[in-house]
Amino acid sequence: MKTFVVVLSVALVLFADAQVRTEYTVDASQPASRRFRIEMRVYGAEGESTTLSIPAWCPGWYIIQRYEQGLSNFSANDANGEALSVTQSGLRSWRVANKSETFTLTYDVAARELGYGFFKCYLGPASGFINGPSAFLYVDGGLNAPSEVKLRLPQDWASVSGMAPGETPNSYRAVNYDELVDCPIEIGLFRLESFIIDGVRFEMCVTGSLTPEQRAEWRRELEFVSKTAMQIMGGAPFRRYLYIIHAIGPADFANFYGGLEHMNSTVLNFSVGHSIAGLAAHELFHAWNVKRIRPKVLGPFDYSKEVRTENLWFAEGVTEYYARLILSRSGLETEEQFLSGLAADIAELQNNRARSRVTLADSSLKVWETGDSSGFGGLNYYNKGMIVGFLMDVKLRTLSDNKKSLDDVMKLLMQRHNPPKPGYDEDGILKAYSEIAGQDMASFYNKLIRSTDELPYDEVLKPFGLELVRSGRAYQLKRMADLNERQSLHIVDWAKNANARPDDR
Ligand SMILES: [Zn+2]
Repeated sequence: MKTFVVVLSVALVLFADAQVRTEYTVDASQPASRRFRIEMRVYGAEGESTTLSIPAWCPGWYIIQRYEQGLSNFSANDANGEALSVTQSGLRSWRVANKSETFTLTYDVAARELGYGFFKCYLGPASGFINGPSAFLYVDGGLNAPSEVKLRLPQDWASVSGMAPGETPNSYRAVNYDELVDCPIEIGLFRLESFIIDGVRFEMCVTGSLTPEQRAEWRRELEFVSKTAMQIMGGAPFRRYLYIIHAIGPADFANFYGGLEHMNSTVLNFSVGHSIAGLAAHELFHAWNVKRIRPKVLGPFDYSKEVRTENLWFAEGVTEYYARLILSRSGLETEEQFLSGLAADIAELQNNRARSRVTLADSSLKVWETGDSSGFGGLNYYNKGMIVGFLMDVKLRTLSDNKKSLDDVMKLLMQRHNPPKPGYDEDGILKAYSEIAGQDMASFYNKLIRSTDELPYDEVLKPFGLELVRSGRAYQLKRMADLNERQSLHIVDWAKNANARPDDR
């Protein structure tokens, strides 16, 4: 009887979810107001009241956001224009007393984030930016609801997003809330460029001032990065990918530098005068690692509270390792630059005492307690995760006589977890790693991830033909002298320039 009740209530929730649909009209026509006025129309609501919430966090950045602080001026009316009562029912929730299944909730979203927007919204004289989780409420229990977004823009402004276009200009459609908020929207006066690699269309949208030379250089870098990432993963899981670039001034570089990953787009806050390749490679590789190859809790998402996994080191650190490999394999960096970059990271870790107190798994699990989305207890999972990815790759190459590598692990994980397939269990990476290695790798893996033991540099690197030389606080990573034939083969294949010139296509 108990089982029956549970099954019945699940069925009712699914039924209700399937009926709900939402439509957001975003009024951005008054840039001087520095806010968006959003009309959220809900169709298919059930019962006499409906609760709507704003996310507690933004996928890709593991801290609690305070998006509710940017929302104001709530009102609601039914399909006949009659006012309905709206009450705040929780820190991030509002309840509308709807008498019918269709109603409209209207509210303002502050659009004052600096640096052209990133985690929140921005509206300025010539551009605007909408990061979905900070702007779009969801119907509680209705995350599967499809939605439509319609934009009201100043004259001559355009919009671009990774979301599928709707039927009218400046409108978009999403199959569910996850997709809606995974697709940031850029609006304004901007230039869009595109290039095609193996049938995949890459677009580059830049906001901010840029010389033609800088624009051409960034585009060239994006072409190299995109092509090499696709080569590593054997194609792309999207037909179109959008780079949204906010070109900030050098003075703002330290404050606003960063990127945020999405399924088929990314937003990069970057400054002129620097190479954008490293940041772009990191965010693009996330389209595989964390957007598709992901822990179970990272899609579908629970936006109401923090979600914990011990695998953020893999999501972030291993993505960063691939960003470095992409630069090296595309020829944008030399092997020497690649090795000295790894050595700098090793120096950072070895000079950090937190490595003997905090495991990589705990650094991931407890990141929410720090308010800084890079680790816990002083151990940065980008840093140690990157080095661990490097050691896992080298170990696998040595064990298999260079027939297997971490690339094979990534491809296997992609096969297993590409949505709509579910994300991996907490031990999913170890399972795939052992499978590719052809042996149980638990002892090696647990030492790297779940212990505070020193990393086994010499044991892993020497058979591969690399040596780590320490002098004081500095570290140097270099090819060993007198490599034997097998060691030479390892190294050449690993960081080689894969001849990824985009114009070779
Ligand atoms: Zn990242």
